[in-house]
Amino acid sequence: MPRPAVLTVLILAALLVAGYRGRKLIMAAMRAAPAKRWDRPWERLGFVIREVGQHRRLLKVRFSGSFHLMIFCGFLALLPAIITDFGAGFFPGFSLRPIGGNTWLALLQDLFGVVIIIATGLAAWHRFVLRPARFTGSKAGDATLIYVLMLAVVLSVFTEFASRIMAGEMPSGWRPISSALADVFAAAGLSPADARVVAIWAYWAHILSVLTFFVYIPGSKHRHIFTAIPNIFFRSLGPRGALPAPPAARGQIGISRLDQFSWKDVLDLASCTECGRCQAACPAYAAGQPLSPKLLIMDLRESVMADQRLAAGPFLGNAIREETLWSCTTCRACMEVCPLHIEHVPKIVEMRRQLVEDARIGANLQDALSNLQRSGNSMGKPARQRARWTKDLGFKVKDARKEPVDVLWFVGDYASFDPRAQRVTIALARLLNIAGVDFGILADAEQNSGNDVRRVGDEGLFQLLATSNIEALQGCDFRRIMTTDPHSLNALRQEYPALGGDYMVLHHTELLLKLIESGRLRLKPGPGEVVTYHDPCYLGRYNGGYDAPRALIAKAGYRLHEMGRCREGSFCCGAGGGRIWGDDTGIVERPSENRIKEALALKDARLFVVACPKDMVMYTAAVQALAVEDRLAVRDIVDLIESVVEPAAA
Ligand code: SF4
Ligand code: SF4
Repeated sequence: MPRPAVLTVLILAALLVAGYRGRKLIMAAMRAAPAKRWDRPWERLGFVIREVGQHRRLLKVRFSGSFHLMIFCGFLALLPAIITDFGAGFFPGFSLRPIGGNTWLALLQDLFGVVIIIATGLAAWHRFVLRPARFTGSKAGDATLIYVLMLAVVLSVFTEFASRIMAGEMPSGWRPISSALADVFAAAGLSPADARVVAIWAYWAHILSVLTFFVYIPGSKHRHIFTAIPNIFFRSLGPRGALPAPPAARGQIGISRLDQFSWKDVLDLASCTECGRCQAACPAYAAGQPLSPKLLIMDLRESVMADQRLAAGPFLGNAIREETLWSCTTCRACMEVCPLHIEHVPKIVEMRRQLVEDARIGANLQDALSNLQRSGNSMGKPARQRARWTKDLGFKVKDARKEPVDVLWFVGDYASFDPRAQRVTIALARLLNIAGVDFGILADAEQNSGNDVRRVGDEGLFQLLATSNIEALQGCDFRRIMTTDPHSLNALRQEYPALGGDYMVLHHTELLLKLIESGRLRLKPGPGEVVTYHDPCYLGRYNGGYDAPRALIAKAGYRLHEMGRCREGSFCCGAGGGRIWGDDTGIVERPSENRIKEALALKDARLFVVACPKDMVMYTAAVQALAVEDRLAVRDIVDLIESVVEPAAA
């Protein structure tokens, strides 16, 4: 059979088999719910080019990121050789000469062919010898086969080039590696006539290895070769702290059936490479809870692929355990590290919404939600006690409902009611008074912001709380809102605008920094003591608040010794997403205790600095549980500033 006919048959067969292997995910995407992800296409394109070209997230894990980059660049360089082989199969003499086929392009192919071989070796060593824990649960056989296929593609092309050089069918000048291999063939006794035969066999070996690679991909985790770019392109461009509202147009509360996931969700599932970076970053997984964001994505993918009709019975509680969903703190660490920009948290919350709708929630959580419904706070305290902390200040705190203020302080539940956090609230009020800030509070009109209520999945209660707060705020005359609570900050800044409440919202660390920089707060020289700082998830990852706390620590004259997991890589205290209202069943090590041990390992830091009332509560409890009060004390940044502030001029 002539070569074009054989090639045509092989290509058609490969397309058919590849389509068959990928059919379940393709069908799932076609039947999935809609998602609006076509806006701002140029911004999306620019981001994809930067993200993929620079391998930004991948290179945050330097070793594996480096060999992935080597393989990526290697195959880009090798692509013209693959195109040439297929083209020449149909059109004898086909060449990419106009773009440098036998010159620099040939040199690149030779050099990057070696790069691929080295990188594949490193990848195999990494996976099978170093065996990082993040691969636990990933499919090793899949990776092995891909390594073999990659080597087959490169070695067959080298063999083809070397034998063609020997046979005089290809110039050798720009192909140093292939030429060296040709010399080896000659030294082994291969004649030019033999080389011609070897070249033909190597050609078909190359074609077959490329097509096998192509056929294998749709049924393997390496389908990301095709899906990574679209998945990154279609990532959410909405505010990162705003959850999507339930698709009311479809009368849907949460996700109870697989076909209620959107096509972007299915693309997410198809794209996961099982790299395990999300698993390594997950506080719930580290705590021994039944949640690994990687396994969750893999399980969802299996469910979608197994259920071709996509509408069969509930998968919640079966393929996906309820405990898995309730373990999430919504800390976003998984989404921050995922090189494919897979969106775990919205999927978890959408499934939780269904559990709440079906009243499948634990007793503690139910109590907290009932308290919130009844009293506007999770502790069930009477609303009139919300402003009780102002009583002993020695000065009056304005009621922002009754008189205009510059700064409206949205205090939050823990900062209002919990004695450990209340102490910081009082200290901050004194600092604001020293600085002459015109501030006031909503007093008993303030309700929980609803941030964590929404993440628990109780959308109705979130709407109730948010609407009540917005109504109270609308009755006040203020310029900006300040809060010490990053969870409230997130709701007020990122979620209330969609409900008609659009405000300038500051974290207290931002306001304190402004007051110091403008000279309204004057500080004495600090003690030079070494401290470490914990980035709260909802201040850092969700709202980018990394610099103000660090600047304040420096201004207060303390020296910061960072923990390894800091800034975007911060490790959650375990309280977010409503976990603070859950129970500790099944927890091997609380995330807060894991974090305190990390701080203790620094050796020189005696203060563990926080910037969130919930962190104050969680870490104070963790230090006590570990009985290390003599080695580490938990302080808010407010405490640091208070320790060095000059008293107000009389
Ligand atoms: S948001 Fe945090 S707790 Fe939830 S799956 Fe991701 S890393 Fe784990
Ligand atoms: S979800 Fe992302 S980070 Fe997690 S295993 Fe999959 S590709 Fe890796």
